Amino acid sequence: MSTLILQKSKQQAGSGQIRRSLAEVLAPLDHMARNSPNLICASECNYETPDHSYSLPSYIFIGPQGGEKLFRIGLFGGLHGDEPESILGLIRFIRWLEKNPELAQGYCLFLYPVCNPTGYEDATRHGRRGADLNREFWKTSSEPEVRWLEEQLQKHAFHGLIALHSDCDGAGMYGYASGQTLNQALLEPALDAAEAVIPRDRSPVIDGFPARNGILKKGFEGILRAPPRQRPRPFEIILETPQAAPQYAQETALALALQTILLEYWKFMAYAINL
Ligand SMILES: [Zn+2]
Repeated sequence: MSTLILQKSKQQAGSGQIRRSLAEVLAPLDHMARNSPNLICASECNYETPDHSYSLPSYIFIGPQGGEKLFRIGLFGGLHGDEPESILGLIRFIRWLEKNPELAQGYCLFLYPVCNPTGYEDATRHGRRGADLNREFWKTSSEPEVRWLEEQLQKHAFHGLIALHSDCDGAGMYGYASGQTLNQALLEPALDAAEAVIPRDRSPVIDGFPARNGILKKGFEGILRAPPRQRPRPFEIILETPQAAPQYAQETALALALQTILLEYWKFMAYAINL
């Protein structure tokens, strides 16, 4: 089904090159938002390129009340335009939540499924202005997508951030959990859950960084992260699927990992603040 969407969404642009359609990839979310008591369309970033106007959309999924606390989590897909699996995995997860909203009890999920709209259209890692958006954060970037996402990160002061990617060289599932130990405590069971469909990459070095059981504690500079001065620090996790795996398996693995992170964080916080 998702493959079909991608195939159908390729359309002829005015310049003669083949472009994917943002409207079509987002259609399932827009359709759900029109009919859902939990999912709403939220603010969007509008900006211009020389040939077109773009919007970087966001959505909010509000789970059932889970007590006094409501945890705000930011979920980010499509930072690299040639990784549609990260977008489709997020959409699959929201479909699950629509059918089982109790999985998001106590959560307000802020969804940014296509963080790099021009890259998605062009099927390129970088945006059309040539920048790798995931190396531009908190560096006074001039990229409109990065500036708007930074504003969102500051405005919402998330309790947790999860960025989704798909690695064209990946041999299995892996993730980044740099910083506080909570990141690793959440990533470990998430990778366990994802192993129901895709094994971990157990290489000692992944993406040029030392790795252990698919967990990397160091990463690149300029990636999407919480504002440098935000305290307390939120949890921050990056999930990577192997792009060579079947697309359906990648979507399912991401959805399983996301579901597990929400469950484990809830358990952790319930213990920490004695809910
Ligand atoms: Zn990526």
